[in-house]
Amino acid sequence: MSKQMLCLPGDGIGPEIMAEALKALDAAKLRFGLDIEISHGLVGGAAIDQYGVPLSDETLALARNADAILFGSVGGPKWDDQPMANRPEKGLLQLRAELDLFANLRPAILFPQLAEASSLKPELVAGLDILIVRELTGGIYFGEPRGVRTLGNGEREGYNTYVYRESEIRRIAKVAFEAARKRGGRLCSVDKSNVLEVTGLWREVVIAESAGYNDVELSHMYVDNAAMQLVRAPKQFDVMVTGNMFGDILSDCAAMLTGSIGMLPSASLNEKNQGMYEPVHGSAPDIAGENKANPLAQILSLAMLLRYSLADGSSLADGSSLAEVAAADAIEKAVSDVLDKGYRTWDIASEGCQLVGTAAMGDAVVDCLLNA
Ligand code: NAD
Repeated sequence: MSKQMLCLPGDGIGPEIMAEALKALDAAKLRFGLDIEISHGLVGGAAIDQYGVPLSDETLALARNADAILFGSVGGPKWDDQPMANRPEKGLLQLRAELDLFANLRPAILFPQLAEASSLKPELVAGLDILIVRELTGGIYFGEPRGVRTLGNGEREGYNTYVYRESEIRRIAKVAFEAARKRGGRLCSVDKSNVLEVTGLWREVVIAESAGYNDVELSHMYVDNAAMQLVRAPKQFDVMVTGNMFGDILSDCAAMLTGSIGMLPSASLNEKNQGMYEPVHGSAPDIAGENKANPLAQILSLAMLLRYSLADGSSLADGSSLAEVAAADAIEKAVSDVLDKGYRTWDIASEGCQLVGTAAMGDAVVDCLLNA
């Protein structure tokens, strides 16, 4: 039976980089005989323009029925005056919540060819391989009550609520421990338990969960220290697990260690391995439509999609060797090959490189994929 993939390019550079990922998918289908049916939908600002809302019921129904969603990025100045409840980003948050995509896996791997592109010294980042596991459907981004109220003296006050239930902490901790077990065996849980009760509970539950993972070395770090350590000595980390807001910030910080936010894919999974796959970056309105965007994070997101959600019977990184997994490996190798050949978009450009635009970078990946 065909696997179902929903393609949601979104706004800004989203459609440009999605076009390159779809080229790579076509090439992978050809080479590996993959049977994948693709449907298309609008999300974010594009959906607001068409339907008045960032996620229509039709698109949500398509998403529910898909094995996996390849997502571009949403947002842009055109929709900045939308009320908060109808902002483009709400489409993304709603998808995450409706599909219960609670586990966000954000690898920060530095391709050796790009060690010079990092903002840190090459010796600090060469060989960097961190996995940030971010809780995605809870915490302060979803907590109620929230809003802006007017106080008795007429002054306005904004407020949000930071909440986590034990069960939410336990399930994300489990994903992180499992990932650590399959990698370097070290897990650092990031919280702010010296100030926030909710993260005091976080630490307690993570420690309780560690009882089932004696082979994983658990440590804890306050978020402010974690931010500092990420730029001071990032290679000390293997897997980091944290809540929604801290993970949002730390994963962007880790992104810069790798040289470009345009290189980083991410996966958001639910308990059935149904997943949404998207670059870590946003819609980059400053370069949209200029054929300047780096499509590699989107292409690497496709590779993660094939590995985690479309490989039959696969669970998180179970080492399955099906066609989809072989295709994922081949796509990742093709990305490494184009970097070896010196192709660079402007965000990762270095002296002597072959500077290319979005479409040419996609073509180079396809070429490496088909002529490996
Ligand atoms: P951004 O990630 O879009 O851009 C930050 C910087 O990185 C910009 O200079 C941009 O040009 C550059 N950049 C991003 N992706 C790139 C790529 N593939 N190739 C080369 N350069 C790239 O973040 P921002 O500017 O803070 O946000 C812009 C819009 O994106 C906002 O509307 C924001 O809400 C939205 N956003 C969406 C998502 C998402 O869809 N998941 C995530 C973050 C931000």
